[in-house]
Amino acid sequence: MSTPARPGNRHHKRPRGEGQWALGYREPLNKNEENKKNDDGLNVRQRIIDIYSKGGFDSIDPADLRGRMRWYGLYTQRKPGIDGGKTAILEPEELDDRYFMLRIRIDGGQLSLHQLRVIADISNEFGRGTADITDRQNVQLHWVEVESVPEIWRRLEEVGLSTTEACGDTPRVILGCPLAGVDVDEVIDGTAQVAEIYEKFIGDKAFSNLPRKFKSAVSGCPAHCTVHEINDVAFVGVVNEAGEPGFDAWVGGGLSTNPMIGKRLGVFVRPDQVADVYGGVVGIFRDYGYRRLRHRARIKFLMNDWGPERFRDVLQKEYLGYELPDGPAPEQPRGGRRDHVGVHPQRDGNFYVGFAPKVGRVDGDTLHRIADIAERHGSDRVRTTVEQKMVILDIAPDQVDSVVAELEAADLHVNPSTFRRQTMACTGIEYCKLAIVETKATATTLIHELENRLPDFKDPLTINVNGCPNSCARIQVADIGLKGQLVVNERGEQVEGFQIHLGGSLGATPGFGRKVRGLKATAEELPDYVERVVTNFSKQKNDGETFAA
Ligand code: SF4
Repeated sequence: MSTPARPGNRHHKRPRGEGQWALGYREPLNKNEENKKNDDGLNVRQRIIDIYSKGGFDSIDPADLRGRMRWYGLYTQRKPGIDGGKTAILEPEELDDRYFMLRIRIDGGQLSLHQLRVIADISNEFGRGTADITDRQNVQLHWVEVESVPEIWRRLEEVGLSTTEACGDTPRVILGCPLAGVDVDEVIDGTAQVAEIYEKFIGDKAFSNLPRKFKSAVSGCPAHCTVHEINDVAFVGVVNEAGEPGFDAWVGGGLSTNPMIGKRLGVFVRPDQVADVYGGVVGIFRDYGYRRLRHRARIKFLMNDWGPERFRDVLQKEYLGYELPDGPAPEQPRGGRRDHVGVHPQRDGNFYVGFAPKVGRVDGDTLHRIADIAERHGSDRVRTTVEQKMVILDIAPDQVDSVVAELEAADLHVNPSTFRRQTMACTGIEYCKLAIVETKATATTLIHELENRLPDFKDPLTINVNGCPNSCARIQVADIGLKGQLVVNERGEQVEGFQIHLGGSLGATPGFGRKVRGLKATAEELPDYVERVVTNFSKQKNDGETFAA
């Protein structure tokens, strides 16, 4: 029976608060907010060093285990052998393994060979050799025990790396173009801005309790490789009317269950203002961001309600204290692919060599091998990309052929098939507690099958494989996006499979892939399905037409 409306109250219904701090809602409205209020996530570091690493897994306070440890890039991994059908019905503790995934943040994707070797050693000594390059330029290790964490931190911090705020409701890794400072066509080098943001904001308790995660990018890459359209805040290289290089600011992009393309604030940000504007945007998110419901707690929902004019106004008046001039939109991205794979000239006469591990999966020994190849050929710099790929910089012209040959011999293709080059996969059921299906091995099989079946296919085609309805591998912006779920096969059995999204894209005409009603494939049928789609497209396309167009 419904409750009758109180007389006189009908037109004065109180709006339900969204938990915005700036409007006076300081009482936590859900469990996550309560945990954050009880103790700052950054405080868990000392407990890991003093208590948990000594007392072992069972000594970890549950609120730290499933909450605050993320502030240092630590997530419990999924207990092996629990199938995807159980994901939604088991309690979190039933899914928890006693081992952790550890995310190492690599801001701007920049690594020296020394840093790469330190990660490789940590992988081999503490992570059973695991190492995945993520689509946010991080490296993720698995099988890490809490006892090892202080030593891992010691080694990482000794070489200027960290896991601080690699996960959690924090400002996470700052994406940057892997070619920053070397690219021939670069609009502006964002390296200094990435470093300044890191110095000023990462690990600062003024910004360590955000409503949810906060993803960012700073880049002057003409190919727009840092996918600025789908970051919470992104700075994109532009040149203003006076011929001055600077940045265009985008706010409120993100995928997951309510995908949105970021909105341009319409401002011109000088290089020395980027950190300020970043601080203002993250401050607005902290203060005005929605904290009542986790699924509405990303900045995109605030931007969607406010619109870019109001957002800019609040930013200027309440956070910066000055007005930003209007600025131009970025030029359309150049080149169909944003991954920097292949051999290309740098502005100093050397070359960079981008290569494709399969779906980002490498291991400790492979990372050592990459470091050795780079060193033998006179380079000291490698980069990770936002497409789960890697790049070696600074190769002299007479060394290029040898680098390419050695990488190819290590199964790290410099001239990969479209399928190897443009297929990405998230972590999936092997380690992720939210996963419903396996992803990395499924995607690897798919790559091999398609390489064998369609050896002449050369067009750009992105295939993104996700293990659940979240969008860690960006399914909505792929030509073929595969969202993991259980499906019924022809024998009537429930098996691992995928809902198919078609025709998503970023760049000149961004748009989200269409979920084709009823279009699903089992994991087993996947190679047949993708082969059919690709073959039909190749037969029917007009000259110059791409898959998304
Ligand atoms: Fe896990 Fe889902 Fe993200 Fe894949 S998309 S890593 S399964 S949460």
